[in-house]
Amino acid sequence: MSLNMTQKGPDNKKKLVGLIGRPVKHSVSSDVHNAAFNYLNLEYFYIAFEVKEDALRSAVIGLKALEATGFNVTIPYKQKVVKFLDKLVDDARTIKAVNTVVIKKGKMIGYNTDVPGVINALIPYKDMLSGCDALILGAGGGASAAALALAKLGCNRITFVSRTPSKARRLADFFKQRIKISTDSLGLSASNLSNIAKPYGIIINATPVGMWPNSDSSLLRREHIRSGSIVMDMVYNPIETVLLKEARLAGAFCVSGLDMLVFQAAESFRLWTSLEPPIEVMKRAAIEALGRFS
Ligand code: NAP
Repeated sequence: MSLNMTQKGPDNKKKLVGLIGRPVKHSVSSDVHNAAFNYLNLEYFYIAFEVKEDALRSAVIGLKALEATGFNVTIPYKQKVVKFLDKLVDDARTIKAVNTVVIKKGKMIGYNTDVPGVINALIPYKDMLSGCDALILGAGGGASAAALALAKLGCNRITFVSRTPSKARRLADFFKQRIKISTDSLGLSASNLSNIAKPYGIIINATPVGMWPNSDSSLLRREHIRSGSIVMDMVYNPIETVLLKEARLAGAFCVSGLDMLVFQAAESFRLWTSLEPPIEVMKRAAIEALGRFS
């Protein structure tokens, strides 16, 4: 486990909250949460830890031993962390993916705040989403959260696309059986994507394609995107990815991963502190921190 040294250490009065993932260099969660804690004068401190896969169990147990209040989990551990937790609740239990853990009385409880994160980011388009067909690029934890959010928002049908077709198939079967929503799946290749993407009312990128430092890539170009459709990129670094630039030029409504980032962080904050999150403070902190990368 290695500490992200861009952060100052906590003083020992403060309660610890963490992030585990790999990589975490692109993450701005520590900026977002520490800004909220400071704004409300709370005695908490958030630290990002880069954890190798063979150290995941030790990291989780270590955070409990250190009496952390909880922690976030990011790429690629949202599904892998499940087996180390005592209990999953709410959306995490439905999709077996966790991005927020609360440690209470020695028990580790897994939540998924990505689902409300996606819902809140898409609320301005709620009416357009009811009954619409959705295309999700990716078949990992973010794709599951997006699918559950879209089902809750009333989408009609979800198509999962993955470079590992068996994973897309598994997710499609899972949502068909458990959530009772119509689904299908496709293998990812440039030719099939360019042919199939256009009819969809909403497209969500739930892969890291386009993420800093490989920010010049996109799975879709403007000619594959329909004017008037909704395109959301879960990638938030950069704030406007190449996919979102292309979507904007195609005349689509664009939703940045930044909105989801702030809303999911706000829900995690609420779970750890039982307080109302200062959302505007958190958003400003995220934008300022993302400026470090440009
Ligand atoms: P994950 O569970 O590891 O899943 C990643 C998915 O992307 C997998 O289906 C993977 O395919 C696919 N993928 C990876 N590299 C690819 C490439 N070069 N080309 C095509 N597909 C590729 O990760 P996740 O947690 O779902 O996160 C996905 C992205 O969403 C990340 O960039 C993450 O930072 C972002 N995210 C943002 C927020 C937010 O708050 N804005 C929240 C959650 C996630 P294989 O399975 O074949 O490897």
